[in-house]
Amino acid sequence: MLFYLFCNVFIYAFHGGLWVYLACFIAFSMVVVWGSFDIGLGYFVNSITHKRTRIKEVALTFDDGPTEFTPQFLDLLKEHQVKATFFCIGKQIEKYPETFQRIISEGHTVGNHTLSHSNTTGFLSTVKMIEEIEQCDEIIERIGHIKTDLYRPPFGVTNPNIAKAIKRTHKKSIGWNVRSLDTVTDNEKKIYKRVTGNLKKGSIILLHDTSEKTFHVLVDLLLFLKNKEYSTFTVDSITKSKKND
Ligand SMILES: [Zn+2]
Repeated sequence: MLFYLFCNVFIYAFHGGLWVYLACFIAFSMVVVWGSFDIGLGYFVNSITHKRTRIKEVALTFDDGPTEFTPQFLDLLKEHQVKATFFCIGKQIEKYPETFQRIISEGHTVGNHTLSHSNTTGFLSTVKMIEEIEQCDEIIERIGHIKTDLYRPPFGVTNPNIAKAIKRTHKKSIGWNVRSLDTVTDNEKKIYKRVTGNLKKGSIILLHDTSEKTFHVLVDLLLFLKNKEYSTFTVDSITKSKKND
């Protein structure tokens, strides 16, 4: 609809032909694709990407676990007395139920990261997306005995179907404003620099408890936070305080 109006205005303005239409189509498609992948834009879903705060505090969030690497992350966080937020995949919880229970018993926050983290997430129907979210919820309840209203979209992808699914499952979409790119590059120094260079009060940092590499980055990052006197918060502190507003 918007596209139609947008193009008609352009065609009218330029008395153009097919090429104007094509140019419009390409421009519009680019905006939609960009909107789907950039969680900070809030194009389809209003995701929480940071906390409004005056104090030096940041949130560490770990996606795609639990994995074989998660216990060492938990040991390290415990050593530093830091609480984080873990966005867990249902199928991974079933593979590592004890690790999942440990995340909860050690006071970390958990969120829903779908049942299967499908590569085709962006193309699923609303019904299928709701299933992905609800089945992950069931596993979280069965194994962790808790409920969560926190949801993080796999790959940060949102679109109208995902927006509907989030609404119908009463989830709060949680994004980030510091992306470590720890699944893209193997260079630990680069990841560390990316994170520490972009840090602000209230930042939500996206990391993954899926590799030794990210563990090494976390070792340095926790020291950095300590030296710069940053405290940490878990993501539920944002959604809980919003209810009280
Ligand atoms: Zn993920």
